[in-house]
Amino acid sequence: MQEFVYNGQPSRVVFGAGALKHLEREIDALGAKRALVLSTPEQAAQAQHIADLLGTRAVGIFPRAVMHVPIETAREARAQATRLGADCAVAIGGGSTTGLGKAIALDSGMPILAIPTTYAGSEMTPIYGITEAGLKKTGRDARVLPRTVIYDPLLSLSLPVGLSVTSGINAIAHAAEGLYAQDRNPVMDLMAEEGIAAIARALPTIRTTPQDVDARGDALYGAWLCGTVLGNVGMALHHKLCHTLGGSFNLPHAEVHTVMLPHAMAFNANHAPGAMVRIARGLGVSSAAGGLFDLAYNNGAPVALRDIGMRAEDLDHAADIAVSNPYWNPRPFGPEQRSEIRDLLQRAFDGIRPD
Ligand code: NAD
Repeated sequence: MQEFVYNGQPSRVVFGAGALKHLEREIDALGAKRALVLSTPEQAAQAQHIADLLGTRAVGIFPRAVMHVPIETAREARAQATRLGADCAVAIGGGSTTGLGKAIALDSGMPILAIPTTYAGSEMTPIYGITEAGLKKTGRDARVLPRTVIYDPLLSLSLPVGLSVTSGINAIAHAAEGLYAQDRNPVMDLMAEEGIAAIARALPTIRTTPQDVDARGDALYGAWLCGTVLGNVGMALHHKLCHTLGGSFNLPHAEVHTVMLPHAMAFNANHAPGAMVRIARGLGVSSAAGGLFDLAYNNGAPVALRDIGMRAEDLDHAADIAVSNPYWNPRPFGPEQRSEIRDLLQRAFDGIRPD
């Protein structure tokens, strides 16, 4: 019998095509009256639309979220929230925008209402990250977990196909690693397998018919489940490698997850056979690692680090960083395993399909 601890995390989820119509009701339920709406510059029009829907319940928009939450942006947004007397942050967008909301909440305790439009899953986690002097520091704090999340597939119809596929595989990565987490539990296992299955069935349809609302709904449902897994149990080798490659070599977040996941799974396969069975079953294939590679490749996503900006001459340095301060992993990957990790990075660089 598996022993476990399960810690429910309080968040309210409102899901459905057109669910945005419940926005005012949800702001009222939070007891908020003065919302500051956050977005990236690319989604400023969506942020303005949200502010218009809120009318007098909105005090302004801050459309300057960028990847990895630079401390300068966080300070600017915090100052604007204070100046406007905001009592709630509404984050519409992907992980970058939710991350900015978290930086404000960490400082002020202000509630966040998140409206995710990618599949990254940040809205379901108490994990925050802030980048200062080129270094991204991450931490956990219950204050940054969004209190309410509105999942409306209509808002993700505009997510470009390429980003939809890589973002979906980014979500799968949370579930895949959750299935062999040291602190895993049966509820998260169920969510992980169901999340993988939902995204795996959604992506081929999104690729051919990006406006298919049911497929967008499946992907967002999967993102919710996979994000919940990320927020509840620990991550391992794959997330460490992606943190290294994204942080130190500035590779794009969702793409780096997409390229690395099959290789991390191949590395761990013999040390986490139960997880591999569940991942493969979710994908509807016989091999987890090979199936994840095929999911990316067959849907037009990058499968090689060389194609997403990594330089061959940086692989040695990447291996050095990856094995320093290793995370717990079902197969150890400290300094003694440096050559295996270097080999893994080479295969990912070349885009070689694992079996
Ligand atoms: P992102 O938020 O950076 O978005 C990428 C781009 O897509 C942006 O320009 C955005 O405006 C645009 N976009 C988003 N939705 C769109 C839509 N529906 N239509 C058109 N354009 C749209 O990307 P992401 O992958 O969602 O987030 C990545 C960031 O989130 C990273 O910094 C990562 O570390 C962080 N993250 C954090 C957690 C956590 O738990 N803290 C979890 C996952 C990701």
